[in-house]
Amino acid sequence: MKIILQANQKQKPARNASHSETGGEKVLREIAVDVPVSDIKTKKIKNVLKEMSQALASQDDGVAIAAPQIGYKLRIFSVSGKIFSPDFAKNREEKISSENNIKDLYFINPKISKLSREKDWVPEGCLSVRWLYGLTFRSKKATITAYDENGKKFTRGASGLLAQIFQHETDHLNGILFIDHAKNIKEELPQK
Ligand SMILES: [Zn+2]
Repeated sequence: MKIILQANQKQKPARNASHSETGGEKVLREIAVDVPVSDIKTKKIKNVLKEMSQALASQDDGVAIAAPQIGYKLRIFSVSGKIFSPDFAKNREEKISSENNIKDLYFINPKISKLSREKDWVPEGCLSVRWLYGLTFRSKKATITAYDENGKKFTRGASGLLAQIFQHETDHLNGILFIDHAKNIKEELPQK
């Protein structure tokens, strides 16, 4: 998913490095399948995670990516470590976390176990739906359980942007794009 940040309004697109457009529309609309837990540490999955991080890193404005966006029908998403950095927090009103860990996070076979009843309309975009933006109605808080890249099961609660990411990325794994339910959808081309 992509988040609108003032600082990023002027950046150029880096379309070439992402597989999102060539990964095929079809996989984006399919229900992705669980990764067998015993496969998590295999080379095959390690490579998928690596490709995801590379695709994400190629997009300055990308904060998270789901495996179907690069053509894999697998229930995996990754959150860019940069959203936890102090620099990123400076550009936003909310503080996501005080962690200094800026590694990308991987969520394998994620399941949202809790969504707050309280919701908000929040700005949203997507690396696979350039260059549309809109407002989506998202729960303010979410709790997710998933496996990490070492095959360890964990649960993480989040609010604000990270909670929004959990919802946007889980939607991807179920073939849902934000444009399916967003309002006030507009195209905002990046300025050169
Ligand atoms: Zn997306």
